[in-house]
Amino acid sequence: MLQELSLPINIASVVAHREGTCPGMNAEFGRSAMNYKGSCHCGRVAFEVEGEIEGALACNCSICQRKGSLLWFVPREKLHLLTPDDAASSYTFNKHVIKHRFCPVCGVHPYGEGTDPKGNAMAAINIRCIEGIDLAAIPVTHYDGRSL
Ligand SMILES: [Zn+2]
Repeated sequence: MLQELSLPINIASVVAHREGTCPGMNAEFGRSAMNYKGSCHCGRVAFEVEGEIEGALACNCSICQRKGSLLWFVPREKLHLLTPDDAASSYTFNKHVIKHRFCPVCGVHPYGEGTDPKGNAMAAINIRCIEGIDLAAIPVTHYDGRSL
């Protein structure tokens, strides 16, 4: 089974923000969840995501560096697949705790699946695969995953 995410960003803090339990974010609480649509290039893998993209992570680990993903972490239940789960192939390595999901036809990596340190199922959305957003306006945090 999946045990931990190999990118130990502070997911608890992200979730607290989203749920309005972080004192600094009370003004945000109650705003209706926004839905984003995304897909791989050919459309074999398509999905919707609930939430608001407040930032993304650029990681320099061996796989993220190669893929160039910009990752947005959400609870797994916020990711709604519009295509069958097995439309996306899975790639795992190292401790095999993250399933890197990719389209076997066009090769694009739209999302990954894993769990946070508390065991909650999480998804890492590659926001480069989301439609209609201004990528340049989204703050990117550079994460030194290579040093783990
Ligand atoms: Zn595809």
